Amino acid sequence: MNTPQLPSYISRENIGPWQIFLQQVEQVAPLLDKALWPWVETLRRPKRSLIVDVPIRRDNGEVEHFEGYRVHHNTSRGPGKGGVRFHQDVTLSEVMALAGWMTIKNAVVNVPFGGAKGGIRVDPRQLSLSELEGLTRRYTSEISSMIGPDKDIPAPDMNTNAQVMAWMMDTYSMGEGRTVTGVVTGKPLSLGGSLGRQDATGRGVFVTAREAARKLDVPIEGAQVIVQGFGNVGEASARIFAQAGARVIAVQDVSGTVFNAAGLDIVALKRYQLENKTLAGAPGCEVIDNDAFWSLPCEFLVPAALESQINRYNAERIAARIVVEGANGPTTPEADVILAERGIVVVPDVLANAGGVTVSYFEWVQDFSSFFWSEDEINARLERIMSESFNAIWQLAEQRRLSLRSAAFVIGCSRVLEARATRGLYP
Ligand code: GLU
Repeated sequence: MNTPQLPSYISRENIGPWQIFLQQVEQVAPLLDKALWPWVETLRRPKRSLIVDVPIRRDNGEVEHFEGYRVHHNTSRGPGKGGVRFHQDVTLSEVMALAGWMTIKNAVVNVPFGGAKGGIRVDPRQLSLSELEGLTRRYTSEISSMIGPDKDIPAPDMNTNAQVMAWMMDTYSMGEGRTVTGVVTGKPLSLGGSLGRQDATGRGVFVTAREAARKLDVPIEGAQVIVQGFGNVGEASARIFAQAGARVIAVQDVSGTVFNAAGLDIVALKRYQLENKTLAGAPGCEVIDNDAFWSLPCEFLVPAALESQINRYNAERIAARIVVEGANGPTTPEADVILAERGIVVVPDVLANAGGVTVSYFEWVQDFSSFFWSEDEINARLERIMSESFNAIWQLAEQRRLSLRSAAFVIGCSRVLEARATRGLYP
């Protein structure tokens, strides 16, 4: 196939994330049990979407406005659940798609949640800490009618963290007149957070990668890994791969791409990135062209940044055996076809990155019962859920000759639509 050579780190496909989600639903609908077909329309329509104005006073005294969103895609199986993203490119279409993927993801790992997501179109790097706090608190207050521990439970996503969750929890609690720790997950440990939550998404990425590697006879020891994104998900995935004996040879973030054929020191690289706000110049690695990243021969490619990073402009050049989607929606439907034709196995986002929400579920349960588990217990339960979910999807994919994404969607959509059909139509 003739693929145009354009910078692959910029998505040039003119369909938005929500259109991609709809395409994925379209592809899977005919594979579902016929009894569920009348309910498929539910997946094509988010249950409710809220757009809010978030004004804040900047440190210079001026008032600035930002646009925020919270979407409940589906709550058939339980309260909404999904993160909050702060990014300059956030749109309603993106938040709708991310909420849709949460619906499928939560059903794939069978946690009792529906799908939700939120975000603010803001570049948080331009805000001071107190401006960020003001933004978070005003946003929480604006969406407070939609959230609650048995309604919709936000969590961290891109550019939000435990501190942001603490502000959200505090703001919601002030409105309620009592401390409601279970309204968000991914909180600091001192406020009802869970051990293991920080690394949970990366750990889940590794567990599903290891399971896929077992099936395909790819040893982890010495395997070459490349990671796009060096935030919470990318860093933890890279570190856990390295601890297991793999060689992480390249890491890319917004600042650029670094490479070391012998394997990068992930802990030192993270320290360098935090101190210098860039990867370039980190000791013991070479800066390479961003576009060259995609062609590096490796066993595992972990996209752990934005949507649509693997697209028609680079899918033809990807030289990985297995793609493990740490990000949400990193592969476009077109690229999915190209990778499949080339025999590259894709462990889909709704499975690969479900470790985060799985431990969010553990956190929510611990908050409710005010009884906290040990890190070993959390990691062991996470391992079990991730490997069992992987194996169920692998088995269905083999039986019905489907991609892992289609098999995951069949399992996820079936669980959601069975719940929907059994609940019936109100009134
Ligand atoms: N933001 C994460 C995700 O995309 C975690 C969501 C959660 O824990 O609720 O899966």
